[in-house]
Amino acid sequence: MHERSHVSLAELTTIGLGGPAKRLIDIDDETELEQVLGELANESDEVFILGGGSNVIVSDGGWPGTVIRPAFRRFDATKEGCEVLLHLGAGEVWDDVVRECVQRRWAGVSCLSGIPGWVGASPIQNIGAYGTELSQVLVEVHAFDRDAKRHVIFPAADCALGYRSSRFRGNARHVIEKVVLRLRADGGDIIRYPELARSLGVREGASVNPAEVREAVLELRRGKGMVVDPRDTESRSAGSYFVNPIIDAQALQRLEARALELGIVTEAGLVPRYPNPDGRFKVPAAWLIEKAGFHKGMTVGGVGISKKHALALVNRGGATSDLLRLEASIFHRVMDRFGVRLQREPIFVGEEMEDTPKSCAGP
Ligand SMILES: Cc1cc2nc3c(=O)[nH]c(=O)nc-3n(C[C@H](O)[C@H](O)[C@H](O)COP(=O)(O)OP(=O)(O)OC[C@H]3O[C@@H](n4cnc5c(N)ncnc54)[C@H](O)[C@@H]3O)c2cc1C
Repeated sequence: MHERSHVSLAELTTIGLGGPAKRLIDIDDETELEQVLGELANESDEVFILGGGSNVIVSDGGWPGTVIRPAFRRFDATKEGCEVLLHLGAGEVWDDVVRECVQRRWAGVSCLSGIPGWVGASPIQNIGAYGTELSQVLVEVHAFDRDAKRHVIFPAADCALGYRSSRFRGNARHVIEKVVLRLRADGGDIIRYPELARSLGVREGASVNPAEVREAVLELRRGKGMVVDPRDTESRSAGSYFVNPIIDAQALQRLEARALELGIVTEAGLVPRYPNPDGRFKVPAAWLIEKAGFHKGMTVGGVGISKKHALALVNRGGATSDLLRLEASIFHRVMDRFGVRLQREPIFVGEEMEDTPKSCAGP
């Protein structure tokens, strides 16, 4: 266990914004976690759980309480026939795990290459990219239940995993300690994402060696500033800032009508959308943002939109208040133009500004 006072949270996040935490405690195992949470329950301090800081926005005022990082290390694999059961500590770096799996020729996670952050946060929003989601390989989540004060195990089916969502997101009740994945000991990964298929030169549905998939995914991600790299200022972000809105057929019709009226498209069918399994439609937030008049590379105050990806808001030497102002102006303009409500993807830590659109703030 390692404890420090008055720690800059900006330095612990990929976007590099926000004020300090009163106290930061790095915790090495389940026993320490239970002990520390027990002690904190008797204090009035509020607790925030942090991993790699790649999906959080910290307020300029920081966090007045204690930040806990479950930094448990564990990488244990057992082979069961042609499958591998992988037990991972919450503090393992997600992309190091993917690289190791690919090196061992295990299939299942290569499309999730390059996603920053720690294993403990991976179920929080059911990380996903290039046609794969954690839910496809997750077996169970081991956590500490702060209300019941005991260790609990959730089979994947009980985690309520959805598009960028789970039962854990937006509430601090469960501290994730360990994640168990089931991978295939050999074989390829199925390519379900058109852009990735094109880059690999294969048809959708083809099976490709995980090492090749990883290289292609990393290449695509670098082109979008979606691999955290201190040399790439366009990756100084929290990843995608808004989730892709999922709208019903009526809302889609209204969006198409507005896009036609504004001369943005010449045919209703040209508004991009992807069918969702529940009959609704997923619309790319990046398209809405650009068609609302925001452009890649723009800077407002000390923040802006990445030169490489319209969905990534980047820190160019500003403050969280600048970011929230840019967020609000994007939210309102998309709402006014298209009647579509954007929702912030990263979790906000600390006090929000009063004029942040409530509907934008997410859970
Ligand atoms: C450049 C970039 C690209 C990205 N690309 C993707 C992508 O392709 N797909 C995708 O899904 N995401 C993406 N993200 C978002 C982010 O990387 C993931 O959500 C990641 O899983 C967050 O991990 P973290 O350890 O950094 O979590 P943090 O940012 O530290 O925390 C995120 C949330 O999880 C909670 N949390 C963290 N650890 C625990 C724990 N052990 N127990 C309980 N709660 C916990 C925190 O309280 C917070 O609410 C990207 C981010 C960046 C910066």
